[in-house]
Amino acid sequence: MAKGQITNYKDYPSVYWLEHEAGDFLVTENYDKGIKVYGERIFNLKGEEYRSWTPARSKLASSLLSGLEPMPIKPGSSVLYLGASTGTTVSHVSDIVGSEGIVYAVEFAPRMARELVRIMENRENVISICADARYPENYASLIPEKVDIIYADVAQPNQAQLVKRNADYFLKGKGSCLMAIKARSISQSDSLAKIFEEQINYMVENGFELIQRLDISSFHKEHVVFHGLFS
Ligand code: SAM
Repeated sequence: MAKGQITNYKDYPSVYWLEHEAGDFLVTENYDKGIKVYGERIFNLKGEEYRSWTPARSKLASSLLSGLEPMPIKPGSSVLYLGASTGTTVSHVSDIVGSEGIVYAVEFAPRMARELVRIMENRENVISICADARYPENYASLIPEKVDIIYADVAQPNQAQLVKRNADYFLKGKGSCLMAIKARSISQSDSLAKIFEEQINYMVENGFELIQRLDISSFHKEHVVFHGLFS
């Protein structure tokens, strides 16, 4: 199996599973040919280029490997990504949505945002926005449409409120929300059960239907992902 075998991961379009002599990898097809974003591996197979998607570096990859179902992000999707950092996961979302989709990537730390702009330079489907996601009114003019999905990974105590505010501005009715909850960014002392329950209850009481609560702690310690639909 020197060259490797590639199949769809579950039935999710544009997310693949590669069985290779170097190991098994979750991969996406590289939108920005020849360019690595975070030291990931690149594989060339049957004229296509794929990038390994490392669950230890991405809570979305962890979610997929922990049973995310369905996968709301697809070719052609519009995604508002809150907490983009330097673009590790954004780059894979960009690979998945492809040239028909778009990713609005919001990051407030200036150094990270500068790196994000540089790394996303050739990815025409990514709009990098240096802004504080607590205040969607400040970047509403840069997002001229309602999006299919909000993905949030800001690791801040006020994240649920921040997501709700962004959903009111930007998320379509029945749009999906994926929110990574890092317990210890919310409370150092409360039990994990209490923290996760309170965060999920807040979402459910504020217009989101719970689809899944995913434990991704085998990849990211004390993290759960909320997967919901906005009404
Ligand atoms: N999602 C990234 C990934 O998988 O590649 C990692 C995100 S990291 C856990 C959290 C990021 O959220 C940091 O880069 C931080 O600067 C950013 N952040 C935190 N609060 C924010 C806010 N209010 N608005 C925008 N970005 C924020």
